[in-house]
Amino acid sequence: MRRRNFVTTCFLAPGALASWAQNNTTLARGSLAAQARNNSGMPQMRELNGGKVLFVDGLPFLILGLQWDCDDCFSREIMDPLFPEAAKIGCNTAVLPLYWREVEPQEGKFDFATLDHRIEMARRNGLRIALVYFGTWKNACLNYAPDFVKSDLRRFRRAQQADGTQLRNFSCPTSSETFAADRKALEAIFRHLKAVDSSHHTVVLVQMQNEVGILGTDRCYCPGCTKRFEEGGWSNREKERAAEAFTAHSIAKYLDGLTAAVKTIYPLPIYVNCWLGSENSVPGKDYPSGGPVERVLDVYAATAKNVDFISPDIYVQGLDSFRSICKGYSGKGWPLYIAEHATGQDTRIERNVYYALTELSAIGFSAWAIDTPFPNFYKQPLVDQLDRRWSEEAYDLRDSYVPIRDAMVPLAMAQNTDRLRFFVQEQPDQEETRLPFEGIVVHAVYHHRKGMARGIVLRLNRTEFVVIGGGFDVGFITPEGQGIPMARVERGRFEGSAWRLLLPIRRQWEDRSHPILIYVPQVVKVLLDLS
Ligand SMILES: [Zn+2]
Repeated sequence: MRRRNFVTTCFLAPGALASWAQNNTTLARGSLAAQARNNSGMPQMRELNGGKVLFVDGLPFLILGLQWDCDDCFSREIMDPLFPEAAKIGCNTAVLPLYWREVEPQEGKFDFATLDHRIEMARRNGLRIALVYFGTWKNACLNYAPDFVKSDLRRFRRAQQADGTQLRNFSCPTSSETFAADRKALEAIFRHLKAVDSSHHTVVLVQMQNEVGILGTDRCYCPGCTKRFEEGGWSNREKERAAEAFTAHSIAKYLDGLTAAVKTIYPLPIYVNCWLGSENSVPGKDYPSGGPVERVLDVYAATAKNVDFISPDIYVQGLDSFRSICKGYSGKGWPLYIAEHATGQDTRIERNVYYALTELSAIGFSAWAIDTPFPNFYKQPLVDQLDRRWSEEAYDLRDSYVPIRDAMVPLAMAQNTDRLRFFVQEQPDQEETRLPFEGIVVHAVYHHRKGMARGIVLRLNRTEFVVIGGGFDVGFITPEGQGIPMARVERGRFEGSAWRLLLPIRRQWEDRSHPILIYVPQVVKVLLDLS
């Protein structure tokens, strides 16, 4: 059949990695499975175009995540039906909680049945997993620790306020007993992941704890912490941020110790997420003190060297705030990953993911949550837990996620290069945009029914372009404004780096330089006739 002939590998970025060159011949599922058997397919951070990118099975992988609400993975009845819905939204990574109290209900007795079931469900639905580990810290609290930890306040020391009051639900970050117990559980988890997943790589990323810190005090005032604080000269050195910086240092050291320990067992990429504080908010009151907020990110950079990156949880309104937070968490040698992003009305999630993966070069983007809207709790969730009804925002997110998912590898390869341009229609009265490439201008005219056309254009080589997105028509012109004819236009998707044609878009017009309409979100490959 003619269609089969259209399955070709079609691009190789200049300066691409040697492994990429080796892998770019055939990347259908069969060969991915073959690659998974050798160690280079292990999920890992690699350098690409001057930044760091997550690689899985030897190829760059952009996380398009959906997180399940915090408690929903206790029950298969609630958890399971969401997997196929997540896949339909275009998600490629289920972001799933893993509770310490569930895997170690009694000290030293481990139970991985639910973890195994999550892995099985993800595989069945073609999804990867980012595991979010709720151990010593979950939104700063000890809620998800096992009862043997929660009931023993002497062995597992709690944080103390300045007046000596114990905070029952917040751990002292220098407690060696709590650290040792948490490490034991994580080591068991990583040994288990190595045993069940090292030839599949379903789990590609682990979040170490969740929104770490202490609420109720700026630092722990137990005798041990106070001694360290005084002996370390924190007051003189850090002045007004001393208590917060000390707590950040103590927690970063704890997280780094856990990360180093588990990476020697099974070296998955590991990150830490953050409950953000605003400029005038108070640590320990408005947000957990000692978490990796921007004002102590330098402490984390210096202390948590085994952690691959620090990621913001973003629930602010507006593009400017979103950009500003993302820029704060880029650099310092870390790639940008949006660990959580608000869902629901007016959160801009469907547009912010475009900015994240293009101008901000993020390695991934995760929505919180598939089944609960936040911060506007009372609105409809993306997917209703009981009847699986989708909110309008779920369709909008699908329109963004699906085409990006279907061109993920070439998009990741073009990040941080001049081969990538993008546009987002921010206002209904904006009509068009022009994207300049060397010698060629891409002209897009918006036709989106809600006034939010969005697209990404990748240049694969001199004559081939990929257009990702929907709600616009697109033409190619010279810098002088002359239409450039298109020799071939195809709708399809990338399977790894290989292009799979789904539908030839036949040109009905005699003038082959007439723009093509990309209304339904999709991936289109264009071959220009530059002769
Ligand atoms: Zn303490």
